[in-house]
Amino acid sequence: MYEAAVAHFQATGERSLLDVALKNADLIDQVFGPGKNMGVPGHQEIEIGLVKLYRTTGEIKYLDLAKFFVDQRGNGEGHNLVDGEYAGKYQQDHLPLAQQDEAVGHSVRAGYFYSGATDVAALTGETAYDEALDKIWEDIIHQKIYLTGGIGAEPKHEGFGPDYELPNATAYTETCAAIALMLWNHRMFLKSGNVKYMDVFERTLYNGFLSGVSFEGNTFFYPNPLETDGVGKFNQGVCGRSAWFDCSCCPVNVVRILPSLPGYMYATKGNEVYVNLYISNTTEILLKNKTLQLSQKTDYPWDGKVEIDVLNNEPIDATIKLRVPGWARNEVMDGDLYRYMDKENPAIQLSVNGESKNVSVEDGYITLQNQSWKQNDKIVIAFEMPIRKVISHELVAANIGKMALERGPWSTVLKKSTTPKVC
Ligand SMILES: [Zn+2]
Repeated sequence: MYEAAVAHFQATGERSLLDVALKNADLIDQVFGPGKNMGVPGHQEIEIGLVKLYRTTGEIKYLDLAKFFVDQRGNGEGHNLVDGEYAGKYQQDHLPLAQQDEAVGHSVRAGYFYSGATDVAALTGETAYDEALDKIWEDIIHQKIYLTGGIGAEPKHEGFGPDYELPNATAYTETCAAIALMLWNHRMFLKSGNVKYMDVFERTLYNGFLSGVSFEGNTFFYPNPLETDGVGKFNQGVCGRSAWFDCSCCPVNVVRILPSLPGYMYATKGNEVYVNLYISNTTEILLKNKTLQLSQKTDYPWDGKVEIDVLNNEPIDATIKLRVPGWARNEVMDGDLYRYMDKENPAIQLSVNGESKNVSVEDGYITLQNQSWKQNDKIVIAFEMPIRKVISHELVAANIGKMALERGPWSTVLKKSTTPKVC
């Protein structure tokens, strides 16, 4: 509700829902906190909502309350750490975050928790979570993630399983978990500028997330297994996508994320503009009181050619950094869980105002150093999109004798033999 209220306020300028959210948050603030109720939410999400209320209102109490909930989780001082079916490790409430070093429990809860903690760290300067978040991220990306960006292999607790245990047919990989992973990785990128986080974001966006919704946009997957016999009712009692569920978190979460996608395409730092996603759009980017206007035209991910036109009349000095996706840098993801069988980098062509440029990729970006950009300037980048074979780490038993084919950011897992049936 807090996130909806902020989105509604940003889109309309109206305070009607925002005031309801603030009234609610004020009540939570009266009830919870040091010297008051020291409990934590059973399903983390209020933390990222409170951070958005802080960003919108500037009221520090909402950020303080978010930090309280992050710090209080797994903290035996003030609330009982109960281990049980819906407690303890299941909801990451077994140890203080700073002492955690692996991804455990319910994967949606986990992703929101890490997102909230990253927000709090970025805004308060708190460094106590940094090492834990780095270790947990590596634990997931090096051992517990599907090629699709799906996380949370085990249906029983909708969460993380042991290292390298990534069965295809029973993969739970809830749509909400893919979304939570995207939210977290975007925040980790903003905090660090490291491209590896946007690689995970893009892979999850086009695979583990997008599989959750039909092309028509009206039916959904809750779990997103990588394999089906066409008969099993793996999707909450249904074989194939469903229009609704008893607990319909995933459909509404898709509705939350898709309209917010423009917010993930660009980032700025000083006068640097990071172009992180290639999707047709027109945008205005504020840089030191001047507005850089850009337009992207592309059929990505169907085609690797991207045209970026500068629209502003007034010349603006800026460094433009074009992300070279992991799949175009021979890196499926950070770590050695997956690798391309061929070692040849897909070709990349770049031109600025019709003039071919040498392509130099540093830290995952092609950098067009400080230049004056004005109307009619044009950048064209073209990524070759060959079909590539991907294999996984030998310890992933479910993938022995199997490979996946990828083209651009899209991956498809192949079985040795398939007998297609219709759900
Ligand atoms: Zn869900």
